[in-house]
Amino acid sequence: MTQAHAERAHALLSASGASRWINCPPSARLTEHIPDTRSEYANEGTAAHEFSEILLRRSLYPCNSKEREKLADTLEHFKATNQYYGPEMENAIQDYVDVVNERFMESKARSSDAVVLLEERLDYSEWVPDGYGTGDVVLISDGVLEIIDLKYGKGVPVSAVGNPQIRLYALGAWSAYSYLYDIQEIRMTIVHPRLDDISTDILQIEELVEWAESVVKPAAALAYAGEGEFKAGSHCRWCKVKATCRARADENLKALAYEFRDPSLMDNEEIGSILYITEQLKSWAKDVEEYAFEQAKRGNKIPQWKLVEGRSNRVITDKAAARLALEATGLETEKYLKPQELLGIGDLEKYIGKKELAAVLAGLVIKPPGKPVLVPESDKRPELNSIEEDFAGEDFDA
Ligand code: SF4
Repeated sequence: MTQAHAERAHALLSASGASRWINCPPSARLTEHIPDTRSEYANEGTAAHEFSEILLRRSLYPCNSKEREKLADTLEHFKATNQYYGPEMENAIQDYVDVVNERFMESKARSSDAVVLLEERLDYSEWVPDGYGTGDVVLISDGVLEIIDLKYGKGVPVSAVGNPQIRLYALGAWSAYSYLYDIQEIRMTIVHPRLDDISTDILQIEELVEWAESVVKPAAALAYAGEGEFKAGSHCRWCKVKATCRARADENLKALAYEFRDPSLMDNEEIGSILYITEQLKSWAKDVEEYAFEQAKRGNKIPQWKLVEGRSNRVITDKAAARLALEATGLETEKYLKPQELLGIGDLEKYIGKKELAAVLAGLVIKPPGKPVLVPESDKRPELNSIEEDFAGEDFDA
């Protein structure tokens, strides 16, 4: 097996941070010595990648009986010891493995000597100083190179379209294998099995190299040298100094200096602009609050603020004893016990598995239309005509 997923070193100009350092080159040196903080989600993602690697090695690589036995042991050990493993991971990763198998079959159909590489170190240092990353899956056949990346998160899907991370992996793979294969087309696929989302971006190699030369190379040179302009934007979300960065603060405070046209009332156009500013300010305020709270917990005083004890609720220390005591009063059970109720669909899927639950509850699950929400125009969902037309008969307050 390859080096443990969680222990991998990251390049200063990592592929996963590319959107940040391409847009804000000095962020690379500014954050290089700040240690990474791993979240539960990141640990779960790492476990999912480990699991998928074992399954893919088993299904895609020819193994002799000894290797097969070793893989079976690794799989058993993973299942028995990994805290994140369960039916939900089993199903989601199987879906991902199915996609990879399908794409590999397509590569084989294009050329019988097509190869698959798993967890391959991809070196894109031709454009980015010391640049390398690890690609989950690389498929190479005559004419086409495909990179497949697993995202295990359940939040907002990350699209492969225009995605700098997967483009850098593609550059690394092309740079290493173009002398063996005549690669013209680059396919880049991101699979989000828990969101049922797969996106693929396709570029001709000339387009990818043009992007690398004109966008990546100059930004990487500045980032490596610790030069360039700080620029705040959506890429700040994953920056280690997002709470304390002055450039981000200046950008947000600039937004507050919005000038209103009419002294008394704002028109809808102005309201639209204010909503954008509000979103930006809310996310910044949350980052600053979290940072300040962490500082205060460590004993680093934030002037004008203090840490106090929050509200607390009474708790029963021994539920079994309390139940006996309540029983002894002769009270009807419904006056001291909660009625049993089903877990939510997400929890049921976690314990039973997505496909299994769909089979067990066939015909018993519906997806009612979601409540209308106001989102920026760039959101991919189709626009509703009006509440009256699209939601006639729905009662959203029920
Ligand atoms: S928070 Fe944003 S602007 Fe500030 S260094 Fe990080 S990426 Fe750049």
